[in-house]
Amino acid sequence: MTYHIDDPRFLDLTIGSAQLDRLASGCRWAEGPVWFADSQCLLFSDIPNQRILRWSQDATGGPGTITTFRQPSHFANGQTRDRQGRLVTCQHGTRSVTRTEIDGSLTTLADSFQGKRLNAPNDVIVDSHGAIWFSDPTYGILSDYEGFQAEPEQPVRGVYRLSPTGQLDRVAQDFLQPNGLCLSPDERTLYVADSGASHQPDAPRHILAFDAGQGKLTNQRVFAHIDAGIPDGIRTDARGNLWSSAADGVHCFAPDGTRLGKILVPEAVANLTFGGPRRNRLFITATTSLYAVYLAVPGAQTP
Ligand code: MG
Repeated sequence: MTYHIDDPRFLDLTIGSAQLDRLASGCRWAEGPVWFADSQCLLFSDIPNQRILRWSQDATGGPGTITTFRQPSHFANGQTRDRQGRLVTCQHGTRSVTRTEIDGSLTTLADSFQGKRLNAPNDVIVDSHGAIWFSDPTYGILSDYEGFQAEPEQPVRGVYRLSPTGQLDRVAQDFLQPNGLCLSPDERTLYVADSGASHQPDAPRHILAFDAGQGKLTNQRVFAHIDAGIPDGIRTDARGNLWSSAADGVHCFAPDGTRLGKILVPEAVANLTFGGPRRNRLFITATTSLYAVYLAVPGAQTP
């Protein structure tokens, strides 16, 4: 296990003897991890291969088992669960956010805004009130690799909020490519990663923070910069530290934006989520593989 330590506080969040477990490989671009505590399994997307895979934990603590959960997956990307436990999925192929009902059928939650199709919803979270927040960059329509190539219809690449009553609002739009998003444990701060430097190398590689209240986002500011690759999926832990994907691994930032350290991962990381029986295992989707590492802090209870 290799850490890069910037600040001694990182030692309180990590376990020095913990190993980076490689739980699966053979993906083309692994994304969208979501933990199911009730069935002790993790779903994650393999976007170009049009499949959602399921990693199931062994009762004996063994390496676990990989099975196919859904194929074709409509080029599924980011995923989460709603307050009723239902799977919520961003689908590039349908340019929509869907919900998987308990009978297995799919319900489209959002696929257009102001009469025009969304670009390609990328990542999604649900807050404690049941509102669904998702990002809508253009990655899923840039080529036929991770979706179907098309011209964007939306004038901007925004972040949207779908209220529990079904009202869809664009709540932020000052991005090159909005991507991963997460809430602070108290849900007063929403973080959004801008991965626009993927196609514009001189662009900022940063995570923005907003005050979130009454369904609106205000006080936009830069929270942190990534110095390796781009930020994609992000999550907070129970103490409010933010863990971000990056090209060289997972970067950890204190709530004030100070970088505390990195977990070095041998493949470029696209997304991550907390899981395991104690919610203290960080699951990392990284290019072809799914990795996991135990931490000394559990994930926030927010998705
Ligand atoms: Mg993403």
